[in-house]
Amino acid sequence: MNCPHCASPTTKEQTKKTTLGYSTFSCMVCQRVYDLRCRF
Ligand SMILES: [Zn+2]
Repeated sequence: MNCPHCASPTTKEQTKKTTLGYSTFSCMVCQRVYDLRCRF
């Protein structure tokens, strides 16, 4: 899944999930965190 902020494919899945149960990812390039619905 590419980063919605910088479109980088270099992302890492986080162990914690959002309150809605979505997996969260952090981008290795821009350091932002987002979930599968791009809420961050
Ligand atoms: Zn990014």
